[in-house]
Amino acid sequence: MTEICADFIVISPYIWVKNACIDFNTEIKRIEIVRDGLDKSKDASTKIVTHGLASTHTHLGLYPIRSTTVLGLNLDDWVSMYAWPWEKFLREHPEASFLTSIKAMKELVSGGVTAFADMHINETLVAEAVKLVGLRADLSVAIMDKGLYTDYEEALDENLELIRISSSNPLIRARLGPCTPRLLKPKDFKNIVDIARVKGIGIHTHLAEVEEDLLWLRKEWGMGLREFINYTGLASVDALIAHSIWISQAIDLIRHAQSIWVAHTPRSNIGLGDGITPITPLLRGGGRVSLGIDVAPTYNLQHDMIALQSLHYGGGRPLQPELIFSLATEGGYRALKIGNGDLVPGEPADIVVWESNDVVAESPVPEITWGNARVSEAYVGGTKVYSEGKLIKVKNLDEINGKYKEFLNLFLTRT
Ligand SMILES: [Zn+2]
Repeated sequence: MTEICADFIVISPYIWVKNACIDFNTEIKRIEIVRDGLDKSKDASTKIVTHGLASTHTHLGLYPIRSTTVLGLNLDDWVSMYAWPWEKFLREHPEASFLTSIKAMKELVSGGVTAFADMHINETLVAEAVKLVGLRADLSVAIMDKGLYTDYEEALDENLELIRISSSNPLIRARLGPCTPRLLKPKDFKNIVDIARVKGIGIHTHLAEVEEDLLWLRKEWGMGLREFINYTGLASVDALIAHSIWISQAIDLIRHAQSIWVAHTPRSNIGLGDGITPITPLLRGGGRVSLGIDVAPTYNLQHDMIALQSLHYGGGRPLQPELIFSLATEGGYRALKIGNGDLVPGEPADIVVWESNDVVAESPVPEITWGNARVSEAYVGGTKVYSEGKLIKVKNLDEINGKYKEFLNLFLTRT
C-alpha cells in the first residue's frame, strides 16, 4: 500500500479536501483528513493530489513535427507539407515511431496525462513503447485507402493485428481507427464500423475538422454529415470523434448518441485555423466531451486546458476551471472506459502529485488548469511511472534520445 499526504486532494472536479492522505495499491483504497494538519516546513511548496488526466486524441508519431502546426498553415497545406513527408519516413523506419512515442509520452506525463488514445501508423511499435513507459493507452491504426498503405484492407489488417496483440496487456486497449471520411470510401468506413460492432470494440476517427470535410462528402458522395453518420452506423458503436467542429447539421445526433465522445483539441484547432468545437451547446444538450492534444507545439495537456478557457469565453458565462478539469479527467477516463476519472475507492490508482510554489487561496483546481502547478510524481495503476522529470521504468533514455536524433538527422538530410 502506498500513502501520499498533501495540502489538497481533489476527489472530483468540484470536491476537494485539505490536509489529507490517500492510500492506494492498484486501486484507490481510502482518503483520510489529517485532523492536526500536515507536518511540513513553512516554505515547502503546496502539494496537490489529483486523478490523472487523459488525452483522448493524440498522434505520438507526429511529435517531432509538433511545432509546425502553428506556422499559419491550414490543415490541408500542413498535411501535405509536413505530415505526409514525415509519415512516409516513419513507414520506412518503424523504429522511429517507437523512439518518438517515448519522447512524446515523457512530455504527456510531465503534464499530468496518465492515459491517452493514439491513432497512427506503426502502432504495434507504439504499443511496445507504452509497455516500456507504463502509461495507459487506447491504440488504433489510422486506416486509410492508399496514402500510407497499399489499400484500406492492408491498414485494416494491421489494426486487427494490433487488437490481437494488445489483448494480453491490461494497460493497453485497441480499437479500429478509420482515419477520416476524406481518406476512405463511405462503404469501407461503414465496413470498419460494422467490424467494430461485431467485435464489441470502439472506433477512433477524425470528423468535421474543417469545412472541406463536409464539401468533400457532398461533392464525392452526395452526403451531408448527418447522412454519413447514419449510413456508417457511427452512432451505434463506442466512438471517439476528434474535432467535431463543423457539426451544426448533426449536433443533435451527436449529443444524443450515448456512445459518442467528442475529443476537443483546442490548440490544434487554433494553430490550423480549423474553427471552434461547439462544446457548450454539446454539453448543455447532454453531449459527451473530452480533451485531446492531437498535434500541438507541446504535448502538455495543461496547455490545452489554458487554451480551452481562453477559446470559449463568448456568449455567456466563461467556463469554470472545474468544468475544464472534469473534461480532462472524468470526460477522458469515461471516454476511454477506464473508470470514472475520480479519486474514489475502487477506481484505478491513476494519480498525479502536483506542486505549486504559491499559496493556494481557494480552489486548487485552477493551479492545474492554468498551469501554475507542475507534476512531481505520477502513478498508473498504483505504479510510480514518473518522478521529478524522469520516466521511472525507462533506464536507457540517453540511448533512446541518441537514436531519436539520428533518425531526425536522417529525415532532414534525405534526398
Ligand atoms: Zn488528429
